[in-house]
Amino acid sequence: MIQEPVDAQPLCDLCGAPVPDDAWLTVEVDRARPAESSVVGFDYLNAIFCSQEHASQWLAGPLPAPEPVALLTPSRGDRVFDALLVPGIVLVIALALVGLWTVVRWIVTLF
Ligand SMILES: [Zn+2]
Repeated sequence: MIQEPVDAQPLCDLCGAPVPDDAWLTVEVDRARPAESSVVGFDYLNAIFCSQEHASQWLAGPLPAPEPVALLTPSRGDRVFDALLVPGIVLVIALALVGLWTVVRWIVTLF
């Protein structure tokens, strides 16, 4: 028998206790990345707490350091896809126009 995956109950980011389904509180923090970071943009934190007290205690302390971002290196397949995408679209449009022109010529021959 195959069992459906069950979402694990989230744990409080301060005390580690299970967060009740009817009394959870989340905090979202967006902040600028440090100037020396090689990644431009912002850092995003999302934390869940069992109570407002724990959320305020977490916010009163220093925020965790930004997680390092792994730079995306496109694979050879990605580069080939990127190189063929625009010519492929142009080819499809050209063939559609040839098909449309052929249909117009066929309709004209009917009359
Ligand atoms: Zn807690």
